[in-house]
Amino acid sequence: MDKHKGNLFILSAPSGAGKSTLYKALLKQDENVRISVSHTTRAARAGEEDGREYYFTDVESFLDMIAEDAFFEHAQVFDNYYGTSKASVFEMLEQGIDVILEIDWQGARQVRQLYPNAIGIFILPPSLASLEERLKKRATDTEDVIQRRMAKAVNEMSHYDEYDFVIINDDFDSALSQMSSIFMAMRAKTTVIEQKNSNLINDLLSL
Ligand code: GDP
Ligand code: ADP
Repeated sequence: MDKHKGNLFILSAPSGAGKSTLYKALLKQDENVRISVSHTTRAARAGEEDGREYYFTDVESFLDMIAEDAFFEHAQVFDNYYGTSKASVFEMLEQGIDVILEIDWQGARQVRQLYPNAIGIFILPPSLASLEERLKKRATDTEDVIQRRMAKAVNEMSHYDEYDFVIINDDFDSALSQMSSIFMAMRAKTTVIEQKNSNLINDLLSL
């Protein structure tokens, strides 16, 4: 059995489907969940802060980290490198905190190999038109970048069936409550309860 106490969640979606908005809302209402802050070589968008959304880094430092085996997983997405450092995940799991990895399908495959208990959640938009509309509404990317992200979206979405759960992010509140329910249910699994409450279970069975 796995020795870690927290659950590891993988959250993937095409760019613009709403995964950042969803996980941010979940973090506000559930203090037992944290997001793993990835490293990226892409430039920070307006409003993004180093160490909050990402650790923004240059290609050379990123390649050094690969060489030092500092990454749990890493991948190239939209011509930039993205990666999850080992440090950002395992300390929190050890403390019993649930950790979300907001990563693409390539990273998700690597994580499943290394950590089969990881729980995958895929977010789908209600339509291609609304995906494009959301990317435009977010107003963080140029038209050229938006078109490239749209072109990649179909490829990303084709991997939905590699995940344990799928949420269609149409009505936001409904999508959030589905996501929250998945987190709750995973905490109630027998194997998790056994690990977290072993003293209680021993007591209850010791009469
Ligand atoms: P956004 O998804 O539109 O907000 O754009 P980002 O630039 O933040 O992310 C682009 C893609 O990189 C998304 O598919 C993310 O899931 C993915 N991504 C972000 N962090 C990581 C990471 O640490 N590892 C991997 N493999 N993918 C990542
Ligand atoms: P991602 O992190 O998947 O790239 P974001 O969370 O940045 O996507 O969402 C993209 C845009 O869509 C944001 O402007 C966000 O406010 C908006 N959005 C997210 N969910 C919904 C929803 N259910 N209905 C309408 N707009 C949404």
